[in-house]
Amino acid sequence: ATPMSIMVGTGRAAQLGVLFRKGEALQQLQKSAIVAFDKTGTLTEGKPALTDLILDDDFAHDEVLALVAAVESRSEHPIASAIVAAAKKADLPLGAVSEFASNAGTGVTARVDGRLVAVGSQRHMGHLDFSNFSETIDRLAAEGKTPVFAAIDDKLAAAIVVADTIKPTSKAVIDALHRKGLKTAMISGDNARTANSIAAQLGIDEVRAEVLPADKVEAIKSLRTAHGVVAYVGDGINDAPALAEADIGIAVGSGTDAAIESADVVLLGGNLQGVLDAITVSRATMRNIH
Ligand code: ADP
Ligand code: MG
Repeated sequence: ATPMSIMVGTGRAAQLGVLFRKGEALQQLQKSAIVAFDKTGTLTEGKPALTDLILDDDFAHDEVLALVAAVESRSEHPIASAIVAAAKKADLPLGAVSEFASNAGTGVTARVDGRLVAVGSQRHMGHLDFSNFSETIDRLAAEGKTPVFAAIDDKLAAAIVVADTIKPTSKAVIDALHRKGLKTAMISGDNARTANSIAAQLGIDEVRAEVLPADKVEAIKSLRTAHGVVAYVGDGINDAPALAEADIGIAVGSGTDAAIESADVVLLGGNLQGVLDAITVSRATMRNIH
């Protein structure tokens, strides 16, 4: 493509709300073999709500919700917001938090009024026995809901389930990518059953689930080895390294600054239609038709 056609393509994309930050990305994107997506906040709205709180017999509902919400009030994770909102709605007072620690990709731990409270995935409290919960949890995860667990003073107290909504445009965008001859993938830190359920609802080809933030880069590399040029679409702080590793990193503009700074392409607003527009403009530019 000539510098002139790249300028024209960049301008045309901008009119569609797609910002190419580098001319090179405009040339590379049409070579993509696979488009990989982050799940939470990219394919889904990223605003989960608490749907179920399943208690162990030794614990009381309000006690557990208040303790867990106190810890989560220190976290910026979407799951944390869902839990804090549920406690607020129930008018529960939140205790004093100390020794807060956040473990990227697994959960959070702190002391609340002297009690030790951990919230997160099974991996976050791996030594506990989950057998009482596993059947219910598997069923809810198969519906696409995300289960996390609460441990209080090192005893499993509850399973807390949140559900996020798939964005209205996600399915149409995945279908259109397939019609264009591209493969699709989802990379998520979420539970494998949950991620597979969402991917199945969207018709996504490949799923990498329970991926720790640091391992998203490895997931991109393995998709490249298997398929060729990889475009990655993400929104979160956790996504910045994957956006940088991908051949073309596409940040959803409603996302975090760190994600936007690591991307080659920025979609204004949260609309994934921009992924298709970006590919269309890239293909047209490289064919030099205007
Ligand atoms: P992703 O954004 O790809 O879904 P994350 O790496 O942010 O993944 O989180 C992965 C998993 O870690 C979550 O699905 C949840 O089980 C657990 N987790 C992380 N942070 C928290 C938190 N603040 N509260 C509860 N669970 C958490
Ligand atoms: Mg996300």
